[in-house]
Amino acid sequence: MFVLGDTTTLPTSKAGSVAHFAGEILVENFMREINGEPLREDFDGHANCFIETGFDKAALIDFNYDYEPLPGKFPLPGLGPFSLLGESKANHWGKMMFKWVYWNKLVSGEELPLEAQMSLAGKVQD
Ligand SMILES: Cc1cc2nc3c(=O)[nH]c(=O)nc-3n(C[C@H](O)[C@H](O)[C@H](O)COP(=O)(O)OP(=O)(O)OC[C@H]3O[C@@H](n4cnc5c(N)ncnc54)[C@H](O)[C@@H]3O)c2cc1C
Repeated sequence: MFVLGDTTTLPTSKAGSVAHFAGEILVENFMREINGEPLREDFDGHANCFIETGFDKAALIDFNYDYEPLPGKFPLPGLGPFSLLGESKANHWGKMMFKWVYWNKLVSGEELPLEAQMSLAGKVQD
C-alpha cells in the first residue's frame, strides 16, 4: 500500500509542499514496484512554505528531516529572488504568484522546476 500526504504517519509537516515533493518519490517507487524493481527509500522530508508577516512582506522557510530552516536564497542559490528566513516584499509577491502557479500548473499536474529533495546549495549553516 502506498500512502501520501496528510494521511501518512511520516514525521513531516502536514503541508501541501510535503505532499507534492513526497508524491514525486511515490510515483517513482510505484512504477518500480510495478516493474519488480527495488524501491528507493529516499524522501528526505523536504518542505517549504511562505509565511505572510504583514505590511506586504512574507518569510519563506525550506527544511527537511535533517535541517531546520536555514538562511539563504531560493530557488536560485545566491540569487533568489526569494530570501529564506528573512522577511521581504519579494517573498510576499512570490506567495501571491504561487496562487496562480498552484491553480494553473500544479493542480493540472504540470512539473515545476523544483527538486523533490532539499538542496543545501547557497544556504548558510552554523
Ligand atoms: C487552514 C489550512 C491552511 C493550510 N495552509 C497551508 C499552507 O500555507 N502551506 C501548505 O503547504 N499547507 C497548508 N495546509 C496543509 C495542506 O492543505 C495539506 O497538507 C494538504 O492539502 C494535504 O494534501 P492531501 O492530498 O494529503 O489531503 P487533502 O488535500 O485533505 O485531500 C484529501 C481529499 O480526500 C477527499 N476524501 C476524504 N475522504 C474521502 C472518501 N472517503 N472518498 C473520497 N474522497 C475522500 C477529501 O474531500 C479531500 O479532497 C493548510 C491546511 C489547512 C487546513
